[in-house]
Amino acid sequence: MLTPDYLENIPAPMMQLWQQVEEDILKDVARRIGKMGTLTATADWQLWRREQVRLCNREVLKILAKYTGKSTAQLRQIFQEAAAKALEEDDLLYRSAGLDPPDPNTDQALLNLLNAGYQQTAGSWQNLTATTANTVSGQLETALDRAWLQVSSGAFDYQTSIRRAVNDLARNMAGVTYPTGHRDTLEVAVRRAVLTGVNQTAGKLQIARMDEMDWAFVETSAHAGARPSHAKWQGKQYHRGGAVTYRGKHYPDFEKATGYGTGAGLCGWNCRHGFFAIDPDLDPQPAYTEEELAALDAKDIEYQGKRYSKYEISQKQRALERHVRAAKKVWLAEDAAGLDSTQSAVRLRQARQDLAQFVKDTGGRNDSSRTFVSGFSRSQAGRATAQAKQNTLTNAAGATIIRVKRTTLTGTPDSITQVEHAKGGIDRNYYGPDGRQVKQISSNGHGHKKEEALGQHGEHAHDYLYTEDGKLSRPARELTDQERKENADIL
Ligand SMILES: [Zn+2]
Repeated sequence: MLTPDYLENIPAPMMQLWQQVEEDILKDVARRIGKMGTLTATADWQLWRREQVRLCNREVLKILAKYTGKSTAQLRQIFQEAAAKALEEDDLLYRSAGLDPPDPNTDQALLNLLNAGYQQTAGSWQNLTATTANTVSGQLETALDRAWLQVSSGAFDYQTSIRRAVNDLARNMAGVTYPTGHRDTLEVAVRRAVLTGVNQTAGKLQIARMDEMDWAFVETSAHAGARPSHAKWQGKQYHRGGAVTYRGKHYPDFEKATGYGTGAGLCGWNCRHGFFAIDPDLDPQPAYTEEELAALDAKDIEYQGKRYSKYEISQKQRALERHVRAAKKVWLAEDAAGLDSTQSAVRLRQARQDLAQFVKDTGGRNDSSRTFVSGFSRSQAGRATAQAKQNTLTNAAGATIIRVKRTTLTGTPDSITQVEHAKGGIDRNYYGPDGRQVKQISSNGHGHKKEEALGQHGEHAHDYLYTEDGKLSRPARELTDQERKENADIL
Protein backbone atom coordinates (compact mmCIF):
# COMPACT_ATOMS: atom_id res chain seq x y z
CA MET A 1 0.00 0.00 0.00
CA LEU A 2 1.05 3.58 -0.51
CA THR A 3 0.61 5.52 2.74
CA PRO A 4 -1.14 8.92 2.75
CA ASP A 5 2.20 10.57 3.62
CA TYR A 6 3.97 8.83 0.78
CA LEU A 7 1.23 9.91 -1.63
CA GLU A 8 1.33 13.46 -0.29
CA ASN A 9 5.01 13.75 -1.13
CA ILE A 10 5.21 11.72 -4.30
CA PRO A 11 4.35 14.54 -6.76
CA ALA A 12 7.02 16.85 -5.22
CA PRO A 13 9.83 16.34 -7.78
CA MET A 14 7.40 16.76 -10.68
CA MET A 15 5.90 19.82 -9.03
CA GLN A 16 9.31 21.45 -8.63
CA LEU A 17 10.11 20.79 -12.25
CA TRP A 18 6.83 22.27 -13.45
CA GLN A 19 7.10 25.23 -11.10
CA GLN A 20 10.32 25.96 -12.94
CA VAL A 21 8.51 25.75 -16.27
CA GLU A 22 5.82 28.03 -14.89
CA GLU A 23 8.36 30.62 -13.79
CA ASP A 24 10.31 30.53 -17.04
CA ILE A 25 7.02 31.20 -18.82
CA LEU A 26 6.02 33.93 -16.36
CA LYS A 27 9.31 35.74 -16.89
CA ASP A 28 8.82 35.72 -20.65
CA VAL A 29 5.27 37.03 -20.36
CA ALA A 30 6.26 39.73 -17.84
CA ARG A 31 9.16 40.85 -20.01
CA ARG A 32 6.78 41.33 -22.95
CA ILE A 33 4.30 43.32 -20.87
CA GLY A 34 7.19 45.43 -19.58
CA LYS A 35 8.10 46.38 -23.15
CA MET A 36 4.68 47.92 -23.63
CA GLY A 37 5.83 50.95 -21.66
CA THR A 38 8.35 51.84 -24.35
CA LEU A 39 5.78 51.91 -27.15
CA THR A 40 5.43 55.30 -28.70
CA ALA A 41 2.06 56.74 -29.57
CA THR A 42 2.78 56.26 -33.26
CA ALA A 43 3.61 52.56 -32.99
CA ASP A 44 1.05 50.27 -34.50
CA TRP A 45 -0.44 48.81 -31.37
CA GLN A 46 -2.44 46.00 -33.00
CA LEU A 47 0.54 44.85 -35.00
CA TRP A 48 2.88 44.92 -32.03
CA ARG A 49 0.40 43.10 -29.80
CA ARG A 50 -0.22 40.33 -32.34
CA GLU A 51 3.52 39.87 -32.75
CA GLN A 52 4.08 39.57 -28.98
CA VAL A 53 1.32 36.99 -28.62
CA ARG A 54 2.77 34.97 -31.48
CA LEU A 55 6.33 35.15 -30.11
CA CYS A 56 5.12 34.25 -26.63
CA ASN A 57 3.33 31.19 -27.99
CA ARG A 58 6.52 30.09 -29.71
CA GLU A 59 8.65 30.73 -26.62
CA VAL A 60 6.31 28.66 -24.42
CA LEU A 61 6.59 25.73 -26.83
CA LYS A 62 10.36 26.07 -26.67
CA ILE A 63 10.35 26.09 -22.86
CA LEU A 64 8.08 23.03 -22.76
CA ALA A 65 10.31 21.16 -25.20
CA LYS A 66 13.29 21.89 -23.01
CA TYR A 67 11.71 20.15 -20.01
CA THR A 68 9.80 17.31 -21.69
CA GLY A 69 12.59 14.72 -21.48
CA LYS A 70 13.27 15.39 -17.82
CA SER A 71 9.58 15.30 -16.97
CA THR A 72 9.02 11.96 -18.73
CA ALA A 73 12.02 10.37 -17.03
CA GLN A 74 10.88 11.63 -13.66
CA LEU A 75 7.33 10.36 -14.10
CA ARG A 76 8.59 6.91 -15.08
CA GLN A 77 10.79 6.76 -12.01
CA ILE A 78 7.92 7.83 -9.75
CA PHE A 79 5.73 5.04 -11.13
CA GLN A 80 8.43 2.38 -10.77
CA GLU A 81 9.19 3.28 -7.18
CA ALA A 82 5.53 3.48 -6.25
CA ALA A 83 4.76 0.10 -7.83
CA ALA A 84 7.45 -1.66 -5.80
CA LYS A 85 6.25 0.02 -2.63
CA ALA A 86 2.56 -0.68 -3.30
CA LEU A 87 3.08 -4.46 -3.22
CA GLU A 88 5.70 -4.73 -0.46
CA GLU A 89 3.45 -5.10 2.56
CA ASP A 90 0.83 -7.31 0.93
CA ASP A 91 3.51 -9.69 -0.33
CA LEU A 92 4.87 -10.06 3.21
CA LEU A 93 1.42 -11.05 4.41
CA TYR A 94 0.94 -13.53 1.56
CA ARG A 95 4.29 -15.15 2.34
CA SER A 96 3.49 -15.42 6.02
CA ALA A 97 0.25 -17.12 5.01
CA GLY A 98 2.30 -19.71 3.14
CA LEU A 99 1.66 -18.35 -0.35
CA ASP A 100 4.31 -17.63 -2.94
CA PRO A 101 3.74 -14.33 -4.78
CA PRO A 102 6.03 -14.12 -7.83
CA ASP A 103 8.66 -11.39 -8.14
CA PRO A 104 6.75 -8.31 -9.38
CA ASN A 105 9.64 -7.45 -11.71
CA THR A 106 9.07 -10.60 -13.73
CA ASP A 107 5.28 -10.84 -13.34
CA GLN A 108 4.15 -9.90 -16.85
CA ALA A 109 0.55 -9.15 -15.88
CA LEU A 110 1.68 -6.67 -13.23
CA LEU A 111 4.28 -5.12 -15.51
CA ASN A 112 1.59 -4.59 -18.14
CA LEU A 113 -0.65 -2.87 -15.59
CA LEU A 114 2.18 -0.66 -14.40
CA ASN A 115 3.09 0.29 -17.94
CA ALA A 116 -0.53 1.02 -18.86
CA GLY A 117 -0.91 3.26 -15.76
CA TYR A 118 2.25 5.13 -16.60
CA GLN A 119 1.28 5.51 -20.27
CA GLN A 120 -2.14 6.83 -19.38
CA THR A 121 -0.81 9.42 -16.94
CA ALA A 122 1.99 10.50 -19.26
CA GLY A 123 -0.48 10.72 -22.15
CA SER A 124 -3.07 12.80 -20.32
CA TRP A 125 -0.34 15.10 -19.01
CA GLN A 126 0.94 15.51 -22.55
CA ASN A 127 -2.58 16.37 -23.72
CA LEU A 128 -2.91 18.94 -20.97
CA THR A 129 0.42 20.63 -21.64
CA ALA A 130 -0.49 20.74 -25.32
CA THR A 131 -2.93 23.48 -24.22
CA THR A 132 -0.24 25.47 -22.38
CA ALA A 133 1.05 27.66 -25.19
CA ASN A 134 -2.44 28.80 -26.16
CA THR A 135 -3.58 29.15 -22.54
CA VAL A 136 -0.63 31.40 -21.72
CA SER A 137 -0.53 33.49 -24.88
CA GLY A 138 -4.28 34.03 -24.55
CA GLN A 139 -3.73 35.47 -21.10
CA LEU A 140 -0.92 37.67 -22.40
CA GLU A 141 -3.27 38.99 -25.05
CA THR A 142 -5.97 39.75 -22.48
CA ALA A 143 -3.47 41.39 -20.13
CA LEU A 144 -2.04 43.60 -22.91
CA ASP A 145 -5.51 44.64 -24.03
CA ARG A 146 -6.59 45.51 -20.52
CA ALA A 147 -3.44 47.50 -19.80
CA TRP A 148 -3.74 49.34 -23.10
CA LEU A 149 -7.36 50.20 -22.38
CA GLN A 150 -6.46 51.52 -18.94
CA VAL A 151 -3.75 53.72 -20.35
CA SER A 152 -5.68 55.01 -23.33
CA SER A 153 -8.80 55.72 -21.24
CA GLY A 154 -6.62 57.64 -18.80
CA ALA A 155 -7.63 55.41 -15.87
CA PHE A 156 -3.99 54.68 -15.04
CA ASP A 157 -0.55 55.72 -16.20
CA TYR A 158 1.74 53.29 -18.05
CA GLN A 159 3.74 52.25 -15.00
CA THR A 160 0.65 51.50 -12.93
CA SER A 161 -1.08 49.56 -15.71
CA ILE A 162 1.97 47.47 -16.42
CA ARG A 163 2.49 46.75 -12.75
CA ARG A 164 -1.12 45.68 -12.35
CA ALA A 165 -0.95 43.40 -15.38
CA VAL A 166 2.33 41.80 -14.30
CA ASN A 167 1.20 41.28 -10.69
CA ASP A 168 -2.08 39.82 -11.81
CA LEU A 169 -0.34 37.28 -14.03
CA ALA A 170 2.24 36.43 -11.35
CA ARG A 171 -0.65 35.53 -9.05
CA ASN A 172 -3.13 33.95 -11.43
CA MET A 173 -1.41 32.74 -14.57
CA ALA A 174 -3.02 29.47 -15.65
CA GLY A 175 -0.84 26.91 -17.41
CA VAL A 176 -3.39 24.38 -18.69
CA THR A 177 -6.97 24.29 -19.94
CA TYR A 178 -9.00 21.13 -19.24
CA PRO A 179 -11.43 19.82 -21.87
CA THR A 180 -14.23 21.23 -19.68
CA GLY A 181 -12.73 24.70 -20.15
CA HIS A 182 -11.56 24.83 -16.53
CA ARG A 183 -8.07 26.30 -16.16
CA ASP A 184 -5.38 25.60 -13.59
CA THR A 185 -1.77 26.41 -12.84
CA LEU A 186 0.81 23.88 -14.01
CA GLU A 187 1.73 23.23 -10.39
CA VAL A 188 -1.79 22.29 -9.31
CA ALA A 189 -2.48 20.30 -12.46
CA VAL A 190 0.69 18.23 -12.25
CA ARG A 191 0.06 17.38 -8.60
CA ARG A 192 -3.41 16.11 -9.40
CA ALA A 193 -2.27 14.15 -12.45
CA VAL A 194 0.60 12.40 -10.65
CA LEU A 195 -1.25 11.72 -7.41
CA THR A 196 -4.31 10.31 -9.13
CA GLY A 197 -2.37 8.32 -11.73
CA VAL A 198 0.00 6.77 -9.19
CA ASN A 199 -2.67 5.87 -6.65
CA GLN A 200 -4.98 4.36 -9.26
CA THR A 201 -2.16 2.26 -10.65
CA ALA A 202 -1.06 1.15 -7.17
CA GLY A 203 -4.65 0.06 -6.47
CA LYS A 204 -4.84 -1.89 -9.73
CA LEU A 205 -1.55 -3.67 -9.01
CA GLN A 206 -2.67 -4.63 -5.52
CA ILE A 207 -6.05 -5.88 -6.74
CA ALA A 208 -4.41 -7.94 -9.51
CA ARG A 209 -2.08 -9.44 -6.94
CA MET A 210 -4.99 -10.20 -4.61
CA ASP A 211 -6.75 -11.97 -7.46
CA GLU A 212 -3.63 -14.04 -8.09
CA MET A 213 -3.45 -14.92 -4.39
CA ASP A 214 -7.21 -15.42 -4.21
CA TRP A 215 -7.35 -12.99 -1.27
CA ALA A 216 -10.54 -11.23 -0.16
CA PHE A 217 -10.00 -9.37 3.16
CA VAL A 218 -8.69 -5.79 3.07
CA GLU A 219 -8.36 -2.72 5.26
CA THR A 220 -8.28 0.94 4.22
CA SER A 221 -5.71 3.48 5.41
CA ALA A 222 -6.68 6.67 7.22
CA HIS A 223 -5.39 10.22 7.33
CA ALA A 224 -6.27 13.49 9.01
CA GLY A 225 -8.32 15.95 7.02
CA ALA A 226 -9.96 13.32 4.80
CA ARG A 227 -12.98 14.67 2.90
CA PRO A 228 -16.20 13.64 4.70
CA SER A 229 -17.24 11.11 2.02
CA HIS A 230 -13.89 9.30 2.45
CA ALA A 231 -13.71 9.68 6.25
CA LYS A 232 -16.77 7.40 6.44
CA TRP A 233 -14.90 4.34 5.20
CA GLN A 234 -11.28 5.06 6.17
CA GLY A 235 -9.38 2.86 8.64
CA LYS A 236 -11.88 -0.03 8.42
CA GLN A 237 -11.94 -3.63 7.22
CA TYR A 238 -13.82 -4.97 4.18
CA HIS A 239 -14.40 -8.08 2.10
CA ARG A 240 -14.01 -8.17 -1.67
CA GLY A 241 -16.80 -9.60 -3.81
CA GLY A 242 -19.70 -9.10 -1.39
CA ALA A 243 -20.24 -8.51 2.33
CA VAL A 244 -19.61 -11.46 4.70
CA THR A 245 -19.81 -12.25 8.37
CA TYR A 246 -16.69 -14.10 9.47
CA ARG A 247 -16.13 -15.30 13.02
CA GLY A 248 -18.97 -13.13 14.24
CA LYS A 249 -17.65 -9.97 12.60
CA HIS A 250 -19.35 -8.17 9.73
CA TYR A 251 -17.20 -7.17 6.77
CA PRO A 252 -19.01 -4.84 4.33
CA ASP A 253 -18.41 -5.15 0.59
CA PHE A 254 -15.14 -3.41 -0.32
CA GLU A 255 -16.17 -1.73 -3.59
CA LYS A 256 -19.65 -0.80 -2.50
CA ALA A 257 -18.46 0.76 0.77
CA THR A 258 -15.43 2.66 -0.55
CA GLY A 259 -16.42 3.41 -4.14
CA TYR A 260 -13.14 1.82 -5.24
CA GLY A 261 -12.85 2.02 -9.03
CA THR A 262 -14.87 5.22 -9.32
CA GLY A 263 -13.40 8.72 -9.63
CA ALA A 264 -15.06 9.91 -6.45
CA GLY A 265 -14.05 6.88 -4.37
CA LEU A 266 -11.00 5.17 -2.93
CA CYS A 267 -7.89 5.70 -5.14
CA GLY A 268 -9.91 8.13 -7.29
CA TRP A 269 -9.32 11.84 -7.97
CA ASN A 270 -6.87 13.45 -5.57
CA CYS A 271 -7.36 10.58 -3.08
CA ARG A 272 -4.50 9.76 -0.72
CA HIS A 273 -6.16 6.68 0.78
CA GLY A 274 -4.96 3.17 0.11
CA PHE A 275 -5.78 -0.34 1.21
CA PHE A 276 -3.89 -3.46 2.23
CA ALA A 277 -4.47 -7.17 2.54
CA ILE A 278 -5.33 -8.44 6.02
CA ASP A 279 -5.67 -11.88 7.54
CA PRO A 280 -8.95 -11.86 9.50
CA ASP A 281 -7.66 -14.66 11.73
CA LEU A 282 -4.60 -12.65 12.73
CA ASP A 283 -5.85 -9.05 12.50
CA PRO A 284 -9.53 -8.98 13.39
CA GLN A 285 -9.02 -5.44 14.73
CA PRO A 286 -8.20 -2.57 12.35
CA ALA A 287 -5.01 -0.55 12.92
CA TYR A 288 -7.12 2.41 14.05
CA THR A 289 -9.72 2.13 16.83
CA GLU A 290 -12.89 4.20 16.46
CA GLU A 291 -11.48 6.61 19.06
CA GLU A 292 -8.22 6.98 17.17
CA LEU A 293 -10.08 7.65 13.93
CA ALA A 294 -12.12 10.34 15.65
CA ALA A 295 -8.93 11.77 17.19
CA LEU A 296 -7.35 12.25 13.75
CA ASP A 297 -9.28 15.47 13.45
CA ALA A 298 -9.30 16.44 17.13
CA LYS A 299 -8.73 20.14 17.72
CA ASP A 300 -5.80 19.73 20.10
CA ILE A 301 -3.45 22.52 18.99
CA GLU A 302 -3.89 25.96 20.43
CA TYR A 303 -3.00 28.93 18.28
CA GLN A 304 -3.83 32.55 19.07
CA GLY A 305 -6.46 31.57 21.61
CA LYS A 306 -8.32 29.14 19.32
CA ARG A 307 -8.10 25.38 18.97
CA TYR A 308 -7.23 23.67 15.71
CA SER A 309 -6.70 20.12 14.44
CA LYS A 310 -3.31 19.06 13.13
CA TYR A 311 -4.75 19.09 9.65
CA GLU A 312 -6.11 22.62 10.02
CA ILE A 313 -2.72 23.80 11.25
CA SER A 314 -0.97 22.13 8.33
CA GLN A 315 -3.44 23.79 5.93
CA LYS A 316 -2.71 27.18 7.49
CA GLN A 317 0.99 26.57 7.08
CA ARG A 318 0.47 25.55 3.44
CA ALA A 319 -1.41 28.82 2.88
CA LEU A 320 1.46 30.87 4.36
CA GLU A 321 3.94 28.90 2.25
CA ARG A 322 1.87 29.74 -0.81
CA HIS A 323 2.07 33.43 0.18
CA VAL A 324 5.86 33.22 0.20
CA ARG A 325 5.89 31.52 -3.19
CA ALA A 326 3.41 34.02 -4.59
CA ALA A 327 5.47 36.96 -3.29
CA LYS A 328 8.59 35.50 -4.86
CA LYS A 329 6.78 35.13 -8.18
CA VAL A 330 5.57 38.73 -8.10
CA TRP A 331 9.12 39.87 -7.41
CA LEU A 332 10.49 37.75 -10.27
CA ALA A 333 7.85 39.02 -12.69
CA GLU A 334 8.36 42.68 -11.75
CA ASP A 335 12.09 42.22 -12.08
CA ALA A 336 11.67 40.64 -15.54
CA ALA A 337 9.34 43.47 -16.59
CA GLY A 338 11.93 46.03 -15.56
CA LEU A 339 9.73 47.52 -12.83
CA ASP A 340 10.85 48.82 -9.45
CA SER A 341 10.43 45.70 -7.30
CA THR A 342 11.15 47.30 -3.92
CA GLN A 343 7.61 46.95 -2.61
CA SER A 344 7.37 43.29 -3.54
CA ALA A 345 10.77 42.66 -1.91
CA VAL A 346 9.37 44.10 1.32
CA ARG A 347 6.23 42.05 0.94
CA LEU A 348 8.31 38.91 0.40
CA ARG A 349 10.23 39.63 3.58
CA GLN A 350 6.94 40.05 5.45
CA ALA A 351 5.56 36.78 4.06
CA ARG A 352 8.72 34.96 5.13
CA GLN A 353 8.50 36.44 8.63
CA ASP A 354 4.82 35.48 8.93
CA LEU A 355 5.62 31.90 8.00
CA ALA A 356 8.59 31.69 10.38
CA GLN A 357 6.50 33.10 13.21
CA PHE A 358 3.64 30.67 12.55
CA VAL A 359 5.99 27.68 12.46
CA LYS A 360 7.53 28.84 15.73
CA ASP A 361 4.16 29.43 17.40
CA THR A 362 2.70 26.08 16.38
CA GLY A 363 5.84 24.00 16.87
CA GLY A 364 5.89 22.94 13.21
CA ARG A 365 8.71 22.49 10.79
CA ASN A 366 9.65 24.84 7.98
CA ASP A 367 9.84 22.92 4.72
CA SER A 368 11.94 25.01 2.36
CA SER A 369 11.01 22.88 -0.66
CA ARG A 370 7.47 24.15 -0.40
CA THR A 371 8.41 27.82 -0.59
CA PHE A 372 11.11 27.28 -3.15
CA VAL A 373 10.87 29.14 -6.44
CA SER A 374 13.19 27.58 -8.94
CA GLY A 375 13.64 30.67 -11.08
CA PHE A 376 14.68 32.44 -7.91
CA SER A 377 18.43 32.06 -7.86
CA ARG A 378 20.63 32.73 -4.86
CA SER A 379 21.72 36.06 -6.32
CA GLN A 380 18.10 37.11 -6.84
CA ALA A 381 17.22 36.05 -3.31
CA GLY A 382 20.12 38.13 -2.03
CA ARG A 383 19.08 41.07 -4.16
CA ALA A 384 15.49 40.93 -2.86
CA THR A 385 16.67 40.71 0.75
CA ALA A 386 19.05 43.66 0.36
CA GLN A 387 16.34 45.61 -1.42
CA ALA A 388 13.95 45.07 1.47
CA LYS A 389 16.57 46.03 4.04
CA GLN A 390 17.93 49.12 2.31
CA ASN A 391 14.59 50.54 1.37
CA THR A 392 12.61 50.34 4.55
CA LEU A 393 12.47 52.51 7.63
CA THR A 394 9.99 52.91 10.43
CA ASN A 395 8.02 56.04 11.15
CA ALA A 396 7.62 57.59 14.59
CA ALA A 397 4.70 55.19 15.25
CA GLY A 398 6.77 52.10 14.40
CA ALA A 399 5.05 51.32 11.07
CA THR A 400 7.17 50.12 8.14
CA ILE A 401 7.75 52.72 5.43
CA ILE A 402 8.97 51.64 2.02
CA ARG A 403 11.33 53.98 0.17
CA VAL A 404 10.40 54.27 -3.50
CA LYS A 405 11.51 56.48 -6.38
CA ARG A 406 8.12 57.89 -7.20
CA THR A 407 4.54 58.08 -6.06
CA THR A 408 2.14 55.67 -7.76
CA LEU A 409 -1.62 55.60 -7.41
CA THR A 410 -1.60 51.93 -6.47
CA GLY A 411 0.74 50.02 -4.18
CA THR A 412 0.94 47.11 -1.80
CA PRO A 413 -2.36 46.99 0.16
CA ASP A 414 -2.17 48.62 3.60
CA SER A 415 1.34 49.94 3.07
CA ILE A 416 3.08 53.31 3.28
CA THR A 417 5.74 54.47 0.83
CA GLN A 418 8.10 57.40 0.99
CA VAL A 419 9.48 59.57 -1.80
CA GLU A 420 12.36 61.94 -1.08
CA HIS A 421 12.53 64.86 -3.51
CA ALA A 422 15.86 66.11 -4.80
CA LYS A 423 14.78 69.68 -4.11
CA GLY A 424 13.92 68.77 -0.52
CA GLY A 425 10.70 67.61 1.04
CA ILE A 426 9.39 64.14 1.77
CA ASP A 427 6.04 62.64 0.68
CA ARG A 428 4.49 59.64 2.44
CA ASN A 429 1.86 57.73 0.49
CA TYR A 430 -0.76 55.65 2.28
CA TYR A 431 -2.47 52.72 0.53
CA GLY A 432 -5.79 51.19 1.51
CA PRO A 433 -6.76 47.51 1.73
CA ASP A 434 -7.47 47.42 -2.03
CA GLY A 435 -4.03 48.84 -2.88
CA ARG A 436 -5.37 52.26 -3.92
CA GLN A 437 -3.75 55.37 -2.56
CA VAL A 438 -5.93 57.02 0.08
CA LYS A 439 -3.71 59.75 1.49
CA GLN A 440 -0.43 61.60 1.10
CA ILE A 441 1.46 63.44 3.81
CA SER A 442 4.12 65.95 2.80
CA SER A 443 6.80 67.51 4.96
CA ASN A 444 6.73 70.82 3.07
CA GLY A 445 4.60 72.78 0.65
CA HIS A 446 6.71 71.99 -2.47
CA GLY A 447 6.72 75.72 -3.25
CA HIS A 448 2.98 75.68 -4.02
CA LYS A 449 1.45 78.86 -2.72
CA LYS A 450 -1.66 77.31 -1.19
CA GLU A 451 0.20 74.49 0.54
CA GLU A 452 3.09 76.63 1.81
CA ALA A 453 0.46 78.46 3.84
CA LEU A 454 -0.47 75.27 5.76
CA GLY A 455 1.17 74.04 9.00
CA GLN A 456 4.30 75.69 10.33
CA HIS A 457 6.38 75.38 7.16
CA GLY A 458 3.99 74.02 4.58
CA GLU A 459 3.56 70.48 5.95
CA HIS A 460 0.15 69.16 4.90
CA ALA A 461 -1.96 66.18 3.84
CA HIS A 462 -3.95 65.27 0.72
CA ASP A 463 -6.92 62.95 0.80
CA TYR A 464 -7.37 60.94 -2.40
CA LEU A 465 -11.00 61.01 -3.43
CA TYR A 466 -12.48 59.35 -6.50
CA THR A 467 -15.72 60.45 -8.12
CA GLU A 468 -18.14 57.85 -9.46
CA ASP A 469 -16.71 58.13 -12.96
CA GLY A 470 -13.21 57.48 -11.59
CA LYS A 471 -11.90 61.06 -11.55
CA LEU A 472 -9.38 61.80 -8.82
CA SER A 473 -9.35 64.88 -6.62
CA ARG A 474 -6.78 65.44 -3.88
CA PRO A 475 -7.74 68.37 -1.67
CA ALA A 476 -5.03 69.69 0.66
CA ARG A 477 -5.67 70.04 4.39
CA GLU A 478 -3.94 70.51 7.74
CA LEU A 479 -2.41 67.45 9.44
CA THR A 480 -4.31 65.92 12.35
CA ASP A 481 -2.57 65.52 15.72
CA GLN A 482 -2.39 61.78 15.13
CA GLU A 483 -0.72 62.30 11.73
CA ARG A 484 1.78 64.71 13.29
CA LYS A 485 2.67 62.19 15.92
CA GLU A 486 3.08 59.33 13.43
CA ASN A 487 5.26 61.38 11.10
CA ALA A 488 7.20 63.36 13.68
CA ASP A 489 10.40 61.95 12.17
CA ILE A 490 10.01 63.95 8.95
CA LEU A 491 8.14 67.07 10.08
ZN1 LIG B 1 -9.39 9.41 -0.07
